[in-house]
Amino acid sequence: MAIVAVTDQSLQQAADIIKKGGLVAIPTETVYGLGCNALDTVAVQSVFTAKGRPAINPLIVHVSAIADAHKIAHLSPLAQEIATHFWPGPLTMVLLRRENSGISDLCTAGLDTIAIRFPEHDVARKIIQMAGVPVAAPSANASGSISPTSPRHVHDSLGDKVDMILAGGACKAGLESTVVDVTTDVPVILRYGVVTKEIIQGTLGVDVLDGVANDQNADIKSSIKSPGQLLKHYAPTIPLRMNAIDVDADEALLAFGGTKFMGIKTGGAVSAFPEDQIKNLSESADLEEAAKNLFSYMRDLDNEKFKGIAVMNVPNEGVGMAINDRLFRASKGSNKP
Ligand code: AMP
Ligand code: MG
Repeated sequence: MAIVAVTDQSLQQAADIIKKGGLVAIPTETVYGLGCNALDTVAVQSVFTAKGRPAINPLIVHVSAIADAHKIAHLSPLAQEIATHFWPGPLTMVLLRRENSGISDLCTAGLDTIAIRFPEHDVARKIIQMAGVPVAAPSANASGSISPTSPRHVHDSLGDKVDMILAGGACKAGLESTVVDVTTDVPVILRYGVVTKEIIQGTLGVDVLDGVANDQNADIKSSIKSPGQLLKHYAPTIPLRMNAIDVDADEALLAFGGTKFMGIKTGGAVSAFPEDQIKNLSESADLEEAAKNLFSYMRDLDNEKFKGIAVMNVPNEGVGMAINDRLFRASKGSNKP
């Protein structure tokens, strides 16, 4: 499938494809999404098929105005406040769905809740607006594998299964949206993203609970609430290990910060590694920069000629929690086709 530059004409084409039940890879500020008409069950089914995604993993529905979220879900006063502060942006709210929303049940995996996001990326907003329908869009990659942050990644992962890939450059955030359950009085984080618990608490002045199922620090275990948060996810084809303090001569290194003290087990320093064996998420140890580079660099190092990918410690604070969450799931098994 050809990668198409963004023009008025290609935007209109993309919107038409979605209206007619096709699939378009859309740039967003988080990762590239595989967009389809959320009202069209056949189109939604084809997203699950293209990705090989388990049907129990519900899709996020994307809108281009807060008012459109109200048409498909019930927003409590708190949810409205979150929308006002964080939309458009990389935050998804889980809300009670409206009975007559018209959204395909496949999208919500049969739940009475629905995940909604109003993305900030200009191209995503325009396509949703022009299509005139809510757009269901998971990440535009094969289920379980590394998420795409460039049009080339989409092409490599899904090829002809997509009707159109729109080129909108590299994604600004580089990680999937923060998912927050706002169906109860106290919001619960179901997936870490660049909008952290601290940011939400600080902005709204309310308590927010941590419900990320794999995190020992989680305030509550909510794996039932967030059915799609599968343990093994974001996996490269070769094994990945975290918190490496040294590296094998035949391992690739995903570095973070200074590498002066990273040694090769058999002797020598990693500065001796060829360029394709080492990638640094952020030389200045900047977590936002690391988030943006994470998936792209994981792909660069995902090469059968290496035994695996060793990843240096990334501080588990702020956006680092989202990075570690993705790394932890990626470490739960290589994703050999
Ligand atoms: P993805 O489309 O891969 O970015 O994943 C979307 C994530 O949103 C899934 O992993 C789900 O855990 C979460 N999600 C979507 N819909 C719901 C829902 N109704 N309730 C709880 N979590 C949801
Ligand atoms: Mg995904």
